[in-house]
Amino acid sequence: MRPGFTGATFDRADHLRLDAERMAELVASLRARLLRLSTLDPHLDESGRLAWGSLAELEAEAELIFLGLDGEAPLFAPLPRLEGSAQRAWSVFALLDRMAPEEAALWGTARSLIEWHNRHRYCGVCGTATAVFRAGWGRRCPSCAAEHFPRVDPVVIMLAEHRGRVLLGRQPQYPPGRYSALAGFVEPGESIEEAVAREFREEAGIQVRNVRYVASQPWPFPGSLMIACIAEAEDDRLTIDRTELEDALWMDRAGVEAALAGAPDAPFKAPPHFAIAHSLLRAWLELAPAAPRN
Ligand SMILES: [Zn+2]
Repeated sequence: MRPGFTGATFDRADHLRLDAERMAELVASLRARLLRLSTLDPHLDESGRLAWGSLAELEAEAELIFLGLDGEAPLFAPLPRLEGSAQRAWSVFALLDRMAPEEAALWGTARSLIEWHNRHRYCGVCGTATAVFRAGWGRRCPSCAAEHFPRVDPVVIMLAEHRGRVLLGRQPQYPPGRYSALAGFVEPGESIEEAVAREFREEAGIQVRNVRYVASQPWPFPGSLMIACIAEAEDDRLTIDRTELEDALWMDRAGVEAALAGAPDAPFKAPPHFAIAHSLLRAWLELAPAAPRN
C-alpha cells in the first residue's frame, strides 16, 4: 500500500538546521531551489511535478523554510505572512489528483509548516512575538526562551466491518454521492484503539472490538496524521449522530469494488486516491474474506 502524501525522497537533513554557517552557504548556493506556491497551493508543470524557482523569487516580506536536500540541491519553501487563517481551497484537490504521492508529500510538508508558523506567531507561554529558528522547523520566544515545534495532530480514520460489509459515512460538505471512512481526532488520554472505539460509539452508535492498525498518512490541512484502522462491529444497528454525519450505511464488497473502479453505476463515490480512506477501502477488500454468496 502506498497512501497519498507518503514516499518523499528528499533528505530532511536535520543536522543542518541549527548550523548557521552551513545554512548561509545553502541559501547562497546556485543549486538552491524555491518551491513555487500561490499562497499555499503548488504550481505544477505539465507532468504534474512541483515547479521550482530560484531564491531570487522570494518576496521581500517572506522568510525561508529549509525543507531539506535533493541530492546536492537545497530545497526551500517561502514563508509568507498569511492574511487571517488560510482557508482550505478545494481547488487544490484537482491539483493533487495529478500529483505523484512523493511530490504531494514534499508539498504537504511545506504547506503544514507554513500554516503552523502563521498560527504560532506568538508565544503560548508569555504572549511575546516569536521568531523562526531551526531553519524553519521551530519558533523561539525572545522573551522567555520557550521553544515551539511544529505540531502534528493524530486523527483516527476507520472502517468497521460486519458480516462482509463496511460502515461508511457522509459529511454534509462532501461532494454529491461521496461516502468515506469515519474519522475523528485522538483526544488527550486516549490510545488509538480507544479513539477508534469512541468515535464509532459517538458517530454511529456501534460497539467495536479487535481494532487493527492498517497504515498512516500525513494530511496537510493543516497538520494531521491520519491513522487508518479496521475494527469488527458487534452488530449492525446504527444510531447516527446527525451533527457529525449526514448519513451512514453498510456497504458490501461489490459496492466498494464498483466505487473504487469509478463505475458510473456504483452505489457511492469513493474518496480520492490521495486520501487514505481510499487506500483503506482497498486494504479492506484485500483483507476481508469474500462475503458468502446466497
Ligand atoms: Zn515566551
